[in-house]
Amino acid sequence: MSSTATKTKSIYFFGGTQTEGAKDMRNTIGGKGANLAEMSNLGIPVPPGFTIATSECDVFYDNNESLSDELKSEIREYVGKVESLLGKTLGDNSNPLLFSVRSGARVSMPGMMDTILNLGLNDESVVGLATQSGSERFAWDSYRRFIQMFCSVVLGIDHHGFEKILAAKKQKNNYNLDTELSSDDWKEIVAEYKSFVQSKGLSFPQDAYEQLYLSVGSVFKSWRADRAYKYRDINSIPHTWGTAVNVQAMVFGNLGDTSGTGVAFTRNPSTGENVFYGEYLVNAQGEDVVAGIRTPEPIATLEQAMPEVYAELVQIYQKLELHFQDMQDIEFTIENGTLYILQTRVGKRTAAAAVKIAVDHVNEGLIDHKEAVKRVAPEQVDQLLHPTIDPSATVDVLTKGLPASPGAAVGRLVFTAEDAEAAAANNESVILIREETSPEDIGGMHAAVGILTARGGMTSHAAVVARGMGKCCVAGCESLDIDEANKTVTVNGATFTESDSITLNGSTGDVISGDVPLVEAQITPEFKQILEWADTFRTLNIRTNAETPHDVQVARDFGAEGIGLCRTEHMFFEGDRIRSMRKMILSNTLEARCSALNELFPLQKNDFKAIFKTMNGFPVTIRLLDPPLHEFLPHDDAAVNELAKEMNLSAEEVHKKVHSLKEMNPMLGHRGCRLGISFPEIYEMQAKAIIEAAVEAQSEGSIVIPEIMVPLVGHKSELAVLRELIEKTAESILSEKSETLAYSVGTMIEVPRAALMADEVVQEADFFSFGTNDLTQLTLGISRDDAGRFLGEYVENGVLADDPFQTIDQDGVGRLIEFCIDKARAVKPDLKVGICGEHGGEGRSIQFCHKQNFNYVSCSPFRVPVARVAAAHAAIG
Ligand code: PEP
Ligand code: MG
Repeated sequence: MSSTATKTKSIYFFGGTQTEGAKDMRNTIGGKGANLAEMSNLGIPVPPGFTIATSECDVFYDNNESLSDELKSEIREYVGKVESLLGKTLGDNSNPLLFSVRSGARVSMPGMMDTILNLGLNDESVVGLATQSGSERFAWDSYRRFIQMFCSVVLGIDHHGFEKILAAKKQKNNYNLDTELSSDDWKEIVAEYKSFVQSKGLSFPQDAYEQLYLSVGSVFKSWRADRAYKYRDINSIPHTWGTAVNVQAMVFGNLGDTSGTGVAFTRNPSTGENVFYGEYLVNAQGEDVVAGIRTPEPIATLEQAMPEVYAELVQIYQKLELHFQDMQDIEFTIENGTLYILQTRVGKRTAAAAVKIAVDHVNEGLIDHKEAVKRVAPEQVDQLLHPTIDPSATVDVLTKGLPASPGAAVGRLVFTAEDAEAAAANNESVILIREETSPEDIGGMHAAVGILTARGGMTSHAAVVARGMGKCCVAGCESLDIDEANKTVTVNGATFTESDSITLNGSTGDVISGDVPLVEAQITPEFKQILEWADTFRTLNIRTNAETPHDVQVARDFGAEGIGLCRTEHMFFEGDRIRSMRKMILSNTLEARCSALNELFPLQKNDFKAIFKTMNGFPVTIRLLDPPLHEFLPHDDAAVNELAKEMNLSAEEVHKKVHSLKEMNPMLGHRGCRLGISFPEIYEMQAKAIIEAAVEAQSEGSIVIPEIMVPLVGHKSELAVLRELIEKTAESILSEKSETLAYSVGTMIEVPRAALMADEVVQEADFFSFGTNDLTQLTLGISRDDAGRFLGEYVENGVLADDPFQTIDQDGVGRLIEFCIDKARAVKPDLKVGICGEHGGEGRSIQFCHKQNFNYVSCSPFRVPVARVAAAHAAIG
C-alpha cells in the first residue's frame, strides 16, 4: 500500500477552453460552480473565474477559521490564470481585474450566504478603473459600493451606518431621489466611509489579495450563520455539506444605458406557462434587482431596448433549458451591449408550475414519466391543495401588489419576523407585512401563512423565498405606508394595526380587508396526469382516514383506495346522536344500556352502508369504539344540569357519574379494547351494524370488503376475546339472513407490548394497522396532547431532529415497527400491514413504510394526493 495520500484538488477553473469542472460535480464545487463550468463548456459567455471546492469549507473550520497558506498560494495561481486570460491584473492601478466572490452550496440557498462584488478596488486601482471604463463617476461609485459591502459582510459593520452617510450627503446637497451623484460626491463618500470604518477601530484593507482571502473566509463563515442554519433546517439540507466559493471576474451592468442586469426564468415560475419570463434593470448591478430597490422592467421590453442582446439571450435560454432538461433561473449582465451569463440553476417554482412544466416537458419529449413524477415533490402537492378565495365572497380590495406566490391566506397582521414566530407558536394564523424581506426574516416567513411586502419585484427575496415555501405572497405593494416602529400600515387613507386581519390573494396580488372565506383547491388536468403517472410507480396502496360521507367522497375523488381508519366515535358526535351515547353511558343497568345502544344502531348501520357504497370494491377498515367514555360527557355545571333534566336524572347523579369516570391518565386508562371487554354490548352493537350494513350494500350490488379493527390491544388474549365476540355476532346475522360475507378482524398496533409480542398477537389477527400516534406516545413516553409545551423547543435546540408526531421516529418507533412486522410475518407471511396514524400522509414516513413492505398507508383525505406522489417517490428511489 502506498503511503502517499493523494491530495484532493482544491480549486477548479472555469472560462473558455480551460474549464475544469462540469455539471455533475455539484458535490465537489457546488451547484453554482458546476453550472458555471458547464456553461463555459457549452460556449455560453461566462466571465472566467474559479471555484474553491466545498471540501475546503471543512478545512477552513479545522484551521481555526482561516485559509491555509497552501490554499492561499493556489488562489494566487488561479488568479494568475484569470489575469492572463483577460489581460488585467488584480490590484493593478492602470488595468485592474475585479472579482465577485459568491457562495455556492450543493443546493441553492438563495440569499442565505454572503456575496462580495467589485473586489480588488483600492485607492489606486480605482483610478485604473476610471481610465478603463471611461467614467470616473462609475469607478468611485463602484469603490464605495465595494467598501460598504466588504465592511458590512467581512468586517461585520452594520450597513445602516453607510446608508446614513449617503443619505446625509444627499440631504446636505439638496439632492432629490433621482439626482445622480458626481464623482466628487462619491470621492467624498469614500473618504467618509473609510473614516467611519476607522471610528469602529477597524480598517479597510488596501491590499487586493488580503481583500480576497478575507472575503473567501467570510463566505465560508456564512455557511454557519444563524439564518443559513435555519434555512437548512427548514429545507432538510445537511449542515455537514459546506459551501464552495466562486471567484469570478466582474462585469458591469451599471456602465450606462447600454448596460443592465436581470434575472429570468425559462418558463413562468408561478404558472409554468411556456414563456420567457423575468425582469431587468438598465444601468444597474445584479444586487439591485434582487434587493428590490428599483422596480425592474419586464424582460419582454428588452426586445425593443436591445434587440440583439435579447435575441442572443433567447437563444441561450433555450439552449440551457434543453441542455439541463429543466426550467432554469438565469442571471445575466449586459456590459456595454455585451451579454454575459452569471448563473444558471434549476428554477424554483410553485407547485402548479412544477406540475405543468413536468407534464409539458414529457409532451415535448424532454423527460420521461418517471422523471416527471420525481420533479414534483410530495410537499409541493400539498400546495396545490391550498385554498383560494371563495369566488362568491364580496371582497373589499384595499390595494394591489404583485402576485408573487399563489394561493390565498387569511391572518392577523404582524410587522416583524419575531412576532410572526411567536404568534405561530400559539397556533395563530398571521400575515407578515414588511417593507421588503431579508434573509433575517426567514423564520418569520416560514411561520406566517402569507407574506406582504411594500417593495421589490417578482424576483425579490420575498417572492423567491415564498414561492419556494409554497406560501402565498403579494410583493411590491407600493401603496402601503408601513410604520414598523408603531406597527401600523396605512393604505389609501385607512390605517391597520396588529389587531386587524387581512386576506391576501397571491394569484392576483389583491390585498383585501378582513377575513374572507376561502374555498378548497381544484385539481387541474396536469395534476391529475402526474398523479396517474405516480400511480404506475408506487407499490403502496393509499387509503384514507375518514368517516363522514362528505370526507369519504372527497378522499375517493382524490384517489383513496379504501378506508384505513373509520373512527366510529366521531360518528357519535353528530346531531342528536350524542344524547343516545350519553344515555348509554349514564345507564346503570345492562338493559338500559342496550336500549340506548339500540337507538344508535340504525344510525351507525346507515353510515357504514353509505361508506361501503362509496368505497365500492375497496377495503373499509372500521375501528370499534376507542376513546374513554368521559370524553362524551359534559363537564361544566350548566351542561351537566341540562343533561340531567333531559335524562330525567338528578344533577347529583350525573355529577357522580362524571366523577366516577374521571381518570388520572385517561390515555392509559379505560379505553380501546378495554371498553369492549368491560362493555361487550357496545362492540356487539357496532359489529352488528357493520355486518348488516355490509350485507345490505352487497345485496344492492356493491363489492364490500369490511375489516373490523380492534384498538389498543396489548395482549393476544384481549384480541382473542373480542374476535370471538365479533365472529359470533357476525355468524348469527349471516346464518339468520342466509347470507355469506367475507370480512376480516384485525388489530391496531398502538401499544409497544403488542409490537413486541407480534408473533402471538398475530395469531388472532387477519391484519395489523399501526396506530403510530399512540405508538409514538407510548414508546417515547411523550403525551401527544401535552407535547406542544416542549417539543418545539426540542426541535429548535436540536435535542430532537424532528417532531416524532409529524414524522416517524425511525430509530425508535421505526425499529419497533420493523421488529413487529418481522415477527408477525414469520407466522403469517401474507399478513396485511398498514398505517393509520398521522404519519401515513407524511413524505419521509411513507418512504419508511415502503421500505418496511407495508401494504398501504392511510391518511386524511387532503393528504391522499400527497401520499400518492410520496409513495411513487419512495418506489422510484
Ligand atoms: C393512532 O393512535 O395512531 C390512531 C390512528 O388512533 P387515534 O389517533 O384515534 O388514537
Ligand atoms: Mg390510537
